Amino acid sequence: MPPALPKETEVVVIGGGVAGVSTAWYLARLEVPVVLCEKGRIAGEQSSRNWGWIRKQGRNPAELPLIIQSLRLWAEIAGELPEDIGWTVGGVTYLVENDADAARYTAWLEHAKAYQLDSRMLSVAETDALIPGLRAPHQGALHTASDARAEPASAVPAMGRMLRAGGVPVFENCAVRSVERAGGRVSGVVTEHGRIGCRAVVLAGGAWSRLMLEHLGFALPQLQVISSVQRTTPAPLIAETTVGSAAVSIRRRADGGYTLAKSGAARAEIVPANLRHARPFLPVLKRDWQKLKFRIGRPFLDALFEKSWDGERESPFERTRVLDPSPDHRLLDQVLAAARAAFPQLAEVRSAERWAGAIDVLPDEIPAIGPVPGIDGLVVATGFSGHGFGIGPAAGKVAAELATGRTPAVDLAAFRPDRFAR
Ligand SMILES: Cc1cc2nc3c(=O)[nH]c(=O)nc-3n(C[C@H](O)[C@H](O)[C@H](O)COP(=O)(O)OP(=O)(O)OC[C@H]3O[C@@H](n4cnc5c(N)ncnc54)[C@H](O)[C@@H]3O)c2cc1C
Repeated sequence: MPPALPKETEVVVIGGGVAGVSTAWYLARLEVPVVLCEKGRIAGEQSSRNWGWIRKQGRNPAELPLIIQSLRLWAEIAGELPEDIGWTVGGVTYLVENDADAARYTAWLEHAKAYQLDSRMLSVAETDALIPGLRAPHQGALHTASDARAEPASAVPAMGRMLRAGGVPVFENCAVRSVERAGGRVSGVVTEHGRIGCRAVVLAGGAWSRLMLEHLGFALPQLQVISSVQRTTPAPLIAETTVGSAAVSIRRRADGGYTLAKSGAARAEIVPANLRHARPFLPVLKRDWQKLKFRIGRPFLDALFEKSWDGERESPFERTRVLDPSPDHRLLDQVLAAARAAFPQLAEVRSAERWAGAIDVLPDEIPAIGPVPGIDGLVVATGFSGHGFGIGPAAGKVAAELATGRTPAVDLAAFRPDRFAR
């Protein structure tokens, strides 16, 4: 049975990841009528597949005001939700493995100082005391005790359930095919189940935002990279802090296991749009060349046959309900071996589950948050470039404010969606 959609609302949110759900959450707080449409299921894509790190540490300085706010919002959200989402302020630690790490982290600490963050360099002895048994060679670590973690598989779905319980219409299996305009202004959306009239739309479509924006005539250079993750069988507690190193990054899970992955290791699917938008990514590609794998596969052919569509016909959004890329098992075998070698507490663990997620990367690796030029009433919150789980609540809050004509307290100049055109 197709859902009975409301005919009218104030704001439609496209996308039920952390950005979209948080936008709806804060619109509801403002008592603004809102409808959320998700083509698959709430948090089916990146927002349930990520590592669960909620960190200020190592962030691009432009993101620091938003992430500082976001940590406060996550704490509030975790307190309000009736379900446990594994919210833990356990800290984040990056091992210093060479002089280049030391130089990079020391330089970043200058930015942290401007915001009086508690980030600091730890000596070798302090690092060993924080992470008992650590066998990975290191020269100390960068540590932020006030950083946190939560369970991606439960956090955003729990927010979605609470929204519904509060009377917000949240539709799953409801792809938005297009955004209607009248006189250059948003007038509604066309979904696979019918039209909803509205004054504003927030596009929080993750890896799909580029496609929707292109369909609406706005070019956003967004590359998709596939990143693989695994969870282990339960193991003794090593430390509350999450730990990042070149070979493996680990996070303690609420189920007693660990989420393991390797930072920066990813696969880029070669599709026509990636080739079209390759130029602004050249500096990132040069930096990460050794950690990236490239593949031409099914997505390339799918994209070639991706015809322009309108509201009447099936769109690419409903053809792939949930983007579920295959994990890189060879990489994950190496990651598991590295974890066993670095942490004696993990010597016996096995891989309990493996998955991958498609990350929406922008050339400067910070998101696009703001009004879309030329389409009054359309706000975008996307391109979180692999670290949007942490910043999601604050991104949703400012998107809610922008969609209702309010001025966010945080300066969003660095996140302008049209910055790549200039
Ligand atoms: C492996 C991995 C590890 C990561 N680790 C971390 C981490 O530790 N910390 C951190 O902060 N971040 C991390 N991230 C990044 C983080 O997960 C993302 O930045 C964040 O979840 C993005 O949220 P989103 O709401 O923008 O997108 P998504 O969660 O991808 O949600 C977008 C949603 O929009 C829906 N959608 C798209 N188009 C339409 C349409 N036309 N109609 C209806 N619905 C539509 C999609 O189905 C999807 O559910 C990681 C990501 C991955 C993949």
